[in-house]
Order: sequence, then structure tokens, then C-alpha cells
Amino acid sequence: MTYELAADTFTGLKLLKDEPLSKYTHTKTGGPADWLAFPETVDQVKAIVSYVHAHQIPLTVLGNASNLIVKDGGIAGLTLILTKMKQITVHDDVVTAQAGAAYIDVTIAARDASLSGLEFAAGIPGSVGGAVFMNAGAYGGETKNVVASATVMTPAGEIKTINNKELAFGYRHSAVQEGHMVVLSADFKLTPGDFDAIKAEMDDLNARRAAKQPLELPSCGSVFKRPTGYYAGKLIHDSGLQGYTVGGAQVSTKHAGFIVNIGNGTASDYQAVIRHVQATVKEKFGVQLETEVRIIGRD
Ligand SMILES: Cc1cc2nc3c(=O)[nH]c(=O)nc-3n(C[C@H](O)[C@H](O)[C@H](O)COP(=O)(O)OP(=O)(O)OC[C@H]3O[C@@H](n4cnc5c(N)ncnc54)[C@H](O)[C@@H]3O)c2cc1C
Repeated sequence: MTYELAADTFTGLKLLKDEPLSKYTHTKTGGPADWLAFPETVDQVKAIVSYVHAHQIPLTVLGNASNLIVKDGGIAGLTLILTKMKQITVHDDVVTAQAGAAYIDVTIAARDASLSGLEFAAGIPGSVGGAVFMNAGAYGGETKNVVASATVMTPAGEIKTINNKELAFGYRHSAVQEGHMVVLSADFKLTPGDFDAIKAEMDDLNARRAAKQPLELPSCGSVFKRPTGYYAGKLIHDSGLQGYTVGGAQVSTKHAGFIVNIGNGTASDYQAVIRHVQATVKEKFGVQLETEVRIIGRD
């Protein structure tokens, strides 16, 4: 399929052709984007969304690419990475952050303003857009508990602000997913608190994370959703799968829920490990593990 795109299709915004996405994903795997751009303004996103809508070009929007496996065939059409849209502002007890802001930076801004509620997200390496899309959560906290509203762009280019209820958050789910919306920014409604207590909790959670998770190696975090009544990591551990390796992708020996890239791993290696883990856990425990990580792109 050919696309009506060129490096200078959008004035003031460079498009990169056949750009390897392994440069940007947390797993360090993934094929090329046909076209890749890093928009810096809402107007640029609007121009792009309107253009791809009119020309029927596939559009993929990414944040920090920390919950993704991009297949080795790469991504068709135009891919946007929003990490240059990263403004964070604080007004009273509301922190407003653009979609490409690192969630970790939002937690730091909240802490520095002595606002409590985002401590749980201290070590989640995604963007605000990805956190809203996924309803990211950790240590008993969830994004849904702190997002008052999000400003989104619909596939037709309409910008609207939708509230917490309309976002229809669920476990690793929000209405953004079915609506094929682009998250532009989010308002986090927090509670005035004590700086030292907030900092202590964030430091503690980060220390717990570093002790349990293989942060020294590329990964995409927990690969599988928590099955009702079980823990994915424990099922994988009890199946004897830690250390199971295909190519450069390995079930972490430190945390069974993670698959790490131990060197030159490919998306196909990741997919093969995922399939083997799912089949083994199903056979041993009768539990079907579903992926939390989003697997996108062409084979
Ligand atoms: C070491 C490690 C630890 C992690 N720990 C946790 C954890 O504790 N809890 C947790 O929930 N997750 C965790 N994750 C996973 C990940 O960080 C979160 O899911 C995060 O919310 C994903 O954000 P992202 O910007 O990286 O999204 P991406 O990986 O870039 O994208 C994920 C999905 O969101 C969509 N998306 C991204 N931005 C937008 C946008 N602006 N508009 C519309 N759609 C968008 C993408 O299309 C994609 O489908 C971890 C990952 C790693 C590598």
C-alpha cells in the first residue's frame, strides 16, 4: 500500500521514513515505522489526524513505548511519538500534564507541590497518554483514581474534554481504546499532603520496585494481566519457566512476570516466549494468560 506522505507533508514537522522503532521501545525490539513524527503542538497533531483521516492512512500514537511489542514487520502508515508534548502545570490541587509528559515527572511535580495521590505511579515508566489509555496502576493505586478529565482528539480531529466517568476506566482499560482517541492531556485531581510523607512513600515504592523487577535490562514491564484469583508471575514461576529463552528474549529470573531482552532479542523472540508461557501455564494450571502488553504492527 502506498501513502500520500513525504518528509515535508506537514509544514514545520519532519517525517522520518522507515525509522526503526527499536530505537524507541523499552524492549529495544520492533521493526520500522513507514513514517514517524514527533509533533510538538496540538495544532500539529490536529493537522496530522485530519490528513490521515481524509487520506485513509493508518495512524498509531505512542508515548514512551514502555508497554509495547512492535512486531518485526514494523508499523504501517504514520506513527506519532508524543514525547515532545510534555508540559506540566500545577494549579491549586490539580496537576495538568500533556500526553507526552513522563508519568514519573508528573509524580515529581505533584510531590514538589505537596500534592498526594500519585505516589503509586512513582516508578511507572510510561507517558501520561499511555497511562490514561492503559489505566496504569501499581501498589494498589490506579490512574482512574486521580484523573478528573482528559482532553482527547477523536479520529475526525474533534477536540473534547471527557470526564472520569466517560473515560470508563477498568483494569488496564479506558474508553480511549475503543474510541481510537488521541489523548492530548489530562487533569489529575490530588489532595494537599505533606511533602516528606509523599517523598518517603515514593522512595519506598521505587526501592521495592528496584528490588523485585529486572530494571537493569530492557523489558515491557508485566507482560500478562492478572488472571482472576491468581498472580501471573506466580503461575509462571510455579511452571518452572523462569530463564526460559528464545533468541534474546528471556523470562526474567528476577521477576517471572517480566520478559527481558538479554541481547539482540527480536519481537518474534518475545512473541515465541509469550506463546510458550501461555501454553505451559494453560497446560499446568488450566489458566489462560492474557497479555497486558500491547502487541502491534505487521508480522
Ligand atoms: C520496567 C517497567 C515497569 C512497569 N511498571 C508498570 C506498573 O507498575 N504499572 C503499570 O500499569 N504499567 C507498568 N509498566 C507498563 C507501562 O509503563 C504502562 O502501561 C504505561 O502506562 C504505558 O505508557 P506508554 O507511554 O509507555 O505507552 P506506550 O507503550 O507508548 O503505548 C501503550 C498503548 O497506549 C497507547 N497510547 C500511548 N499514548 C497515547 C496517547 N497519547 N493517546 C492515545 N493512545 C496512546 C498506544 O497506542 C498503545 O496502544 C511498566 C513498564 C516497564 C518497562
